[in-house]
Amino acid sequence: MIKCKFCNSNNLKKILSLGYTPLANSYVVKYQHFKFEKSYPLKLYFCKKCKLIQAPHSISPNKIFVNYDYLSGVSSTWVKHCEKFYTKIIKKFKFNSKKDTIVEIASNDGTLLKSFYKRKFECIGIEPSKFAAKIARKNKINTVDKFLEPNLAKKFIKKNKKISLIVANNVIAHVLDINNFIKSLSILCDKDTILTIEFPHVVNLFKKLQYDTIYHEHHYYYSLESIQNVLKKFDLQIFDLDKLNIHGGSIRIYAKKNKDILKKSKNLIQEINKEKMLNLYSNKNLKKFSYSVKNTKKNTIEYLSKLKKRNYKISAYGAAAKGNTFLNYCKIDYQTIDFAYDNNSLKQGKYLPGSRIKILNPNLIKKNKPDFIIILPWNIKEEIISTYKYVKKWGCKFIILLPKIKLF
Ligand SMILES: [Zn+2]
Repeated sequence: MIKCKFCNSNNLKKILSLGYTPLANSYVVKYQHFKFEKSYPLKLYFCKKCKLIQAPHSISPNKIFVNYDYLSGVSSTWVKHCEKFYTKIIKKFKFNSKKDTIVEIASNDGTLLKSFYKRKFECIGIEPSKFAAKIARKNKINTVDKFLEPNLAKKFIKKNKKISLIVANNVIAHVLDINNFIKSLSILCDKDTILTIEFPHVVNLFKKLQYDTIYHEHHYYYSLESIQNVLKKFDLQIFDLDKLNIHGGSIRIYAKKNKDILKKSKNLIQEINKEKMLNLYSNKNLKKFSYSVKNTKKNTIEYLSKLKKRNYKISAYGAAAKGNTFLNYCKIDYQTIDFAYDNNSLKQGKYLPGSRIKILNPNLIKKNKPDFIIILPWNIKEEIISTYKYVKKWGCKFIILLPKIKLF
């Protein structure tokens, strides 16, 4: 029987089944290796007790994150987001480089911490991907290449100065043992430590049909209600929030460790009420979601096969995890899409998992002259369209497939 990974309740309801898919970030190096490729079921559940939406499976985190090709510094949208984050935080909390220490969890290649490091703050990253951690160190960002867990947190606070700010951006979805992870954050927090957490808001998964953000690396999809439940168990409390456009609609929450009730900002109260009004988990809304997801699959297959029949050359842009869930769920592969272009040189020459589409350097777009380019990471579509606007010269069009088909 499936149990909630957070509260252990067995009162779970299945919302969606996306079939069997390989791990979204397991790019295949050589075509012959596809015969060893493994696929795993991908299903979404809702816990009626703690309201946490989750995709339970038992694949080891070591298998997913230790050899992880993702580098945050590759996306210019993300780099800009980090600078904005720095400016906002410094203004809001008046941090001072002479006394304040900044710690980031899942700091990847150190892109965000660099903004603080440049201004002489003491910065420490915690990042389990050995590869990303190595790059961060090259950028002079002090990085611990381990998973955050309670023992590490205890050792950390003994060894280091007290922490003024802990940043955990886009990581709480990825952590399987959410209890241990939040417990570790709570250990790292002093009563004055500010904790900020950014995560894609589950409301957008439902409203904008962002089901391509569901993959095995993402165990949880949070609402304000569920994140509050999770944090409360470890004496962490949200007191403010920002709404963000990044990743198709994210939320940044500000929390502190306190057993007494903290005053909530107006913004936060407003968003909590808005979320309640949506009644996301009613049977009617859950059914509607599942129906709409199936509908996008049908529409996509019909649309692309129409283009294919007319002998159009179709490519994709962005070898991102997002695209992989979508392509594999819709069963679209190398027979429909010739190539996937991506800036990340680590991915070039490899193949997309499942769909077997070869990843190429975007320099080759000019040579191959596709008629259509499907933008898989829709969250950075403006960046992609403006960088590659020269494709318009030969009449090429960009396509977005979710939540509905749109040409640019
Ligand atoms: Zn639960």
